[in-house]
Amino acid sequence: MQKINTKHGEINLPAFMPDATYGSIKAISFPDAKKAGTEQIVTTTLHIENKIGSVFIKGMGGIHKFFNWDRPILTDSGGWQVFSLINASRLKKTSPSKAKAFDTSPKRRGNKNMITELGCSFYNQEDGSYSLLTPESSMTIQLNLNPDIVTVLDDPILANASLSERKESVRLNTIWAKRSKAQYLRILKLDSLTDLNNYTDSSRPLIGCVIQGADDFELRKQSAEDLIEIGFDIYNFGGVPMKDKTTWREDGSEGFYKEMLHYVSELIPSNKIKYAMGVGQPEDIAYCVSIGWNLFDTVLPTRNARHGYLYVSGGQGDKTKEVSNLKLPISKLSYDIMHLKSERYKHDEKPVDENCDCECCRTVSRSYLRHLIRIKEASGLRLATIHNLRFYSKWMENLKV
Ligand SMILES: [Zn+2]
Repeated sequence: MQKINTKHGEINLPAFMPDATYGSIKAISFPDAKKAGTEQIVTTTLHIENKIGSVFIKGMGGIHKFFNWDRPILTDSGGWQVFSLINASRLKKTSPSKAKAFDTSPKRRGNKNMITELGCSFYNQEDGSYSLLTPESSMTIQLNLNPDIVTVLDDPILANASLSERKESVRLNTIWAKRSKAQYLRILKLDSLTDLNNYTDSSRPLIGCVIQGADDFELRKQSAEDLIEIGFDIYNFGGVPMKDKTTWREDGSEGFYKEMLHYVSELIPSNKIKYAMGVGQPEDIAYCVSIGWNLFDTVLPTRNARHGYLYVSGGQGDKTKEVSNLKLPISKLSYDIMHLKSERYKHDEKPVDENCDCECCRTVSRSYLRHLIRIKEASGLRLATIHNLRFYSKWMENLKV
């Protein structure tokens, strides 16, 4: 499959979606993003709901009109916020040491946050109020926004949680997926998921579910089978971002998460969209494309840009990254990392990347951009973000079959 038709145009696969967490890609405008080659975005349901409200946005004509962004938008479910706000407190009850290892911000994660079969209860430290996110309310919020792809509420779990906790997480994940789909059908007045005819029909938003199970192959399999039986348009790989150097980016043989991503990809029917949430670095995306994943999102290019960490073509930066043995038309790809804040670029008058056509590379020198980023000047953060997004859009072009 080469593309998905949505209500707001095609998504050409494999596709990368920058995160517009609060309704904006940090530091740049949507016209900037378009010029950099961005064709679709992700936005964060819970943050949008808490900061402005989906009913308000519905009243303003929906999320596309409100953002003035006429291309595809995917909304997440709030599941990641469930993970970051609640899992630590859940673990505190049963595994205090594990919770401590994860709980980097204890002030935000008091034991007043809870997960039950009903949903997730959040305690707001600022005003003492509670809010409840359920599979049904998450879907209602998302359909109020009226995006092109919605996501069911999921229940991520720590990889080192106990077996009983991981089993419970998969059980809840399946129940919530079923209830999310029922709410989706109820709101859209559908009896069942209509056939999208190989994703060419754009008469309704697509709905994605999230395969959980942490590092347990059996639980991942069970989660995938449960969700495939319920039936969705898109199957996501959920869980903790894969940052462990010993498992993900290890040179040579495949690391653990690579093996897991490979395993889960093969559980999903090959004619379905496979979304590797939160992956990641360019070489990780390339690997995932080669094993069947075709939708990606990550904050890395935008966040890194604001810290002067730039992705450039081979030979242009400080350190070369390479990915090889890809089962793609291009079997080997490489790029460089550029730490622009380094002293090395202080007097460098060349563009950031001599092979790049973006506004940043056409208009400023490394030396000047380095200065702007060091003083956190908005125009510098903008130009660096434009460049990294341009790099990612060209990288994805290389991976298209
Ligand atoms: Zn550039």
